Amino acid sequence: MKSLPYFCRGEVIRGFGRGSKELGIPTANFPDSVVDHLPADISTGIYYGWACVGNGDVYKMVMSIGWNPYYKNTKKSMETHVIHTFKEDFYGEVLSVVMVGYIRPEKSYDSLEALIAAITADIEEAKVKLELPEHLKLKGDNFFTSAPSSSSSIAGSNKSTSPTILNGH
Ligand code: ADP
Ligand code: MG
Repeated sequence: MKSLPYFCRGEVIRGFGRGSKELGIPTANFPDSVVDHLPADISTGIYYGWACVGNGDVYKMVMSIGWNPYYKNTKKSMETHVIHTFKEDFYGEVLSVVMVGYIRPEKSYDSLEALIAAITADIEEAKVKLELPEHLKLKGDNFFTSAPSSSSSIAGSNKSTSPTILNGH
C-alpha cells in the first residue's frame, strides 16, 4: 500500500456502541470527515501503528477499518485501539495516529471468543512489528509533537468538516 505510512488526526466521537469496551478492547472512533479523506488504496482490514491522545505520550495501536453498520455498511469507519490503559475515556479529545502497516483483512467470527482471540493476536503482532527500527522512528515523528491539545484548535472555523490531515510531510 503506497499510502502507508498514513498520518491523520481528528476528534474522538461516540461509536455505535458495539460494546468494544466490555470486551476489554475499547476502540476510539474517528468522525466521517477523517474517514472520507482515506486514500483509495487503504483497504478495509486491520492496521498497526502509533497513536497519541491530545499532547500525551505516543503508544502502539491497532486500527480496524471496516464498514459502518450505522450507514447500512455503505460507509467506512476507522476505530483505533490504543495499546495502553487510560485512567479515563477521552471522547472529544484529538487522537493523532500514523498507520504504519497492514495485518489482515476484515473477517467475521463464529464466536465472541474467536473474535477476541483474533484481536489479541493482532495486538501481539503490532507490538512486535512496531519494534522494527523503521517503524520505531515514526514514534518520534514531529507529527506527534505538533498535536493540537483540543479539538477546537484543530480546524478553527470548520471543525466538523475539515479535520487536520497531514500526510507526506
Ligand atoms: P464507542 O462505541 O463509543 O466507540 P467503545 O466501547 O469502543 O465505545 O469505547 C471507546 C472509548 O473508550 C474511546 O472513545 C475512548 O474514549 C475510551 N478509551 C479508553 N481507553 C481506550 C484505549 N486504550 N483505546 C481506545 N479507546 C479507549
Ligand atoms: Mg468504539
